Amino acid sequence: MTASETPLRPTAFKDWRLGLDRPLLIAGPCSAESEEQVVDTAKAIDALGIVKVFRAGLWKPRTRPGSFEGAGMDALPWLQRVKAETGLLTMTEVATAQHVEACLKAGVDMLWIGARTTPNPFSIQEIADALRGVDIPVFVKNPINPDLQLWIGALERLANAGITRMGAIHRGFSWFERTPFRNSPMWEFPIRLKAAFPDLEVLCDPSHIAGSRDKLGGIAQQALDLGLSGLMVEVHHDPANACSDAEQQLTPKDYKKLMDSLIFRQAEPTEGMQDRLQGLRDLIDQLDEEVLQKLGTRMDIAERIGDEKRIQQVAILQPERWDSIMRRVLALSEHLGLSASFVAEFMDAIHRESIRRQSWEQAGTQLGGLPMDNKNEKDKVLKNEDPFN
Ligand code: PEP
Ligand code: MN
Repeated sequence: MTASETPLRPTAFKDWRLGLDRPLLIAGPCSAESEEQVVDTAKAIDALGIVKVFRAGLWKPRTRPGSFEGAGMDALPWLQRVKAETGLLTMTEVATAQHVEACLKAGVDMLWIGARTTPNPFSIQEIADALRGVDIPVFVKNPINPDLQLWIGALERLANAGITRMGAIHRGFSWFERTPFRNSPMWEFPIRLKAAFPDLEVLCDPSHIAGSRDKLGGIAQQALDLGLSGLMVEVHHDPANACSDAEQQLTPKDYKKLMDSLIFRQAEPTEGMQDRLQGLRDLIDQLDEEVLQKLGTRMDIAERIGDEKRIQQVAILQPERWDSIMRRVLALSEHLGLSASFVAEFMDAIHRESIRRQSWEQAGTQLGGLPMDNKNEKDKVLKNEDPFN
């Protein structure tokens, strides 16, 4: 689907007619557990004077059965009390049409769709159909698997149903290897979503990315530094005894401390800053050009080596040579203050491209020797087109 065909026409918080603005702060417990827990937590959050929206999960999608699954429908009147007794808007997660209908009837102000629901187009369509003709803000969390199209697709299904006030929430992705966090942040996903839809409000849920109180601050700051539109944080009046996600929830007091410690940057640079930024950006452009020129030269040389290997009938992949290159650059990267993982990834991409170029040289000989200076044919191979038709 091209940009002109997508039904997604996001609007900014300021046009949502709810008095919301960036950065939007949403806070509240992972689950609604009891009336007392919900109302106490909401009042303590309201008293901080910085939060606009109270979150609480009524229906909890648990990975395995046997865990606390939320208070369900019984908790709707508790959210109504929060609405009546504080200045906070209320928000909860919906996963079925039945949830949607109950929330609309109870006057819940906003909805979110959870990370386990987003990847299922049938569920999303069911929710979208239940929302048809209803004007309520809906946030879509990223799918648990890193798939930008599924995330966008869910937003589009809501747009097709007529929802105009919608946002996205970045909560990280499940990952098969151990990561320092509960979910891998993979910041390139919210960045790519923002790049495709600049007006879309993309929040961050640092609680579910971090998975623990000590790592929350770093993730929250990074989200703000990237210009995301706000934070949804899990806050509980008694985290140690929470029925779900006890390790990552903050007390209202610790939440305030954390918010006070964060740097909320202006989304747009001020005028004096523009000049300084421009100077630095010119420098970056210049350096990018130099990096690309050097890469071009490096690839030319790799091709000459490929010619040699072809003439001598030597294998393209020489693992010992590659090991020694990696050792050398990793030692150098340490001196230059570059992270080893970044340099390893960068070098790996260069290596793959060199091999691809050299493979073409050899494929030519093996298949009867294409003229090596035939630029048209070569371009086709480099673009993955078949040179033999
Ligand atoms: C939640 O917000 O409590 C929740 C279940 O989050 P997610 O869908 O991101 O796992
Ligand atoms: Mn949670």
